[in-house]
Amino acid sequence: MIIAIDGPAGSGKSTIAKLVASQKGLFYLDTGAMYRMMTLRTLEMCLDIHNNYDVERLIKENTITIEEGGYLLNGCKVGLEIRTPEVDANVSRVSAVKEVREAMVKRQRELSQRSSVILDGRDIGTVVFPNANIKIFLTASVYERAVRRFKEYLEKGVELSLEKIEEEISKRDFQDENREESPLKKADDAILVNTTGKTILEVVDNILEIMENHDG
Ligand code: C5P
Repeated sequence: MIIAIDGPAGSGKSTIAKLVASQKGLFYLDTGAMYRMMTLRTLEMCLDIHNNYDVERLIKENTITIEEGGYLLNGCKVGLEIRTPEVDANVSRVSAVKEVREAMVKRQRELSQRSSVILDGRDIGTVVFPNANIKIFLTASVYERAVRRFKEYLEKGVELSLEKIEEEISKRDFQDENREESPLKKADDAILVNTTGKTILEVVDNILEIMENHDG
């Protein structure tokens, strides 16, 4: 069973997918974390993503593995370093590169070879698993998504104004929706869930209900 959760930045995908995964005993794959790791390495290795040789190095010289729920980049566990404003500001640029996407999609399919998986991202229902059993597209207003990000940053001790975050989210939406390779869009057969004004638990319940109805 494959469950695809797609949607824009801050729509609550990872929080919700994690909770559904733990309630239903599913393996959870955060595909955004994979693009974030590639972005971190692009910055650390000072690579030019418009240069084929550099892109080849990025893909060849870095490996992503998952162990006991933790994401490992070249054997080392990654954490908050992939969630900095710098990575946020660069991830759309790196994830728009065709070769990076091809390598990540291949890895995502490999990592999903288990009985039941829930994946969140931008192109899961459209490209990675177009035949997923259940497809959900989560949305929320830009303002609400910015407020959520603002709180997340504050918890990590990062102070950024709400206006700046709103601007960054709108920019990232635009880049993700308008890129040539696998743009962010709802699959025709995905169920739209608008999370504006809803609590996390309400959205989780909504998704569990969709799953139950699907099971018959
Ligand atoms: O989900 P998250 O906000 O962590 O994703 C970070 C970025 O990674 C997105 O803005 C998008 O550019 C990219 N991404 C993607 N395809 C996915 C998951 C994430 O292009 N499946």
